[in-house]
Amino acid sequence: MDRREFIGTSIGAAVAAGLSSCGIAPAKQSTGGKMQLSWRPYELQLAHTFTVSSYSRTTTPGVQLEITCDGYTGHGEASMPPYLGHTVESVCSFLEKVDLGQFESPFLIEDIMAYLDTLSDGDSPAKAAIDIALHDLTGQMLGAPLYKIWGYNPAKAGPTSFTIGIDTPEVVRQKTQECAGLYKVLKVKVGLDTDEQMIRTIREITDLPIAVDANQGWKDRSKALDEIFWLKEQGVILVEQPLAKERLDDTAWLTERSPLPIIADEAVQRLKDIPRLKGAYSGINIKLMKSTGLLEARKMIAYARAEGMKVMLGCMTETSVACTAAAHLAPAADFCDIDGNLLITNDLYKGVTVRDGLLTLPDGPGLGLTKL
Ligand code: MG
Repeated sequence: MDRREFIGTSIGAAVAAGLSSCGIAPAKQSTGGKMQLSWRPYELQLAHTFTVSSYSRTTTPGVQLEITCDGYTGHGEASMPPYLGHTVESVCSFLEKVDLGQFESPFLIEDIMAYLDTLSDGDSPAKAAIDIALHDLTGQMLGAPLYKIWGYNPAKAGPTSFTIGIDTPEVVRQKTQECAGLYKVLKVKVGLDTDEQMIRTIREITDLPIAVDANQGWKDRSKALDEIFWLKEQGVILVEQPLAKERLDDTAWLTERSPLPIIADEAVQRLKDIPRLKGAYSGINIKLMKSTGLLEARKMIAYARAEGMKVMLGCMTETSVACTAAAHLAPAADFCDIDGNLLITNDLYKGVTVRDGLLTLPDGPGLGLTKL
């Protein structure tokens, strides 16, 4: 779909279905120079109410973005789970400031991303949307999938975990039954008093390996260590963000004694956050919405590898645009949790798919997306 069709389609659909109720809004655009940037809000509808240790929700605000150049269209996306403080308004207001007209070519991704960082310190989802669209666009211009341009073997993309949120035993049982045959690893949100019940309920149904994510929900390091030993006996393979992100010394204490890898998520946003985490965590969870996109994510992978840290790739609730972008990095990761597109009911594209529990990368140029 070219930019004009994108704008026309979004306006037509918005008029037909009502602007706010369907999450579709008319596209805005910024013109000038070789590249044209356009974007529109797009609210993601979750298949199940999603609960972690601090909140519940049924939708996630997002923004779909396109960059066109020389007849090619690159797709990008910003996703804004409410706990991170970004909103549709903050993303749109950042995008209003962006002037790509000063850049001769979309291949100048290093320069463009450095320029975006001069506009604000934060706004990582908006920056990620532009980064993803530039990678998609340039991949299409080169006629090759991103993983191929980077030299990754798509057969090494590996499994993705599928996330089960905190819920009643009945719902956990139902969700586990739904996904036990489809995935090779489950990810379970823990961090409340119901942790043991959650794991026991899942173990009634499947022996699949489980990654757990406490989302900073555990308060006492000794109790956390006891729980981690118990979790290991239950077939858990890693623990994400057990303690509050500020508690580096306590986390280092835990990591030193833990029989399972301890992965930083909330404690790491961008490349500059990694050096101080060395020794406190076994690895980092890289998400494009935190890292400002693929360019910096690849630097984070290289840095973590150089420091002997494990690499996990995660995502927010996202359409196949951002999830497919992350999946192109999957061959370089130890663990993947790229299931955001599988948790929504209104995806816009087909990109990465899961076959026999394994991430399967599309072989089209750029991200390799096709419109649904
Ligand atoms: Mg996490």
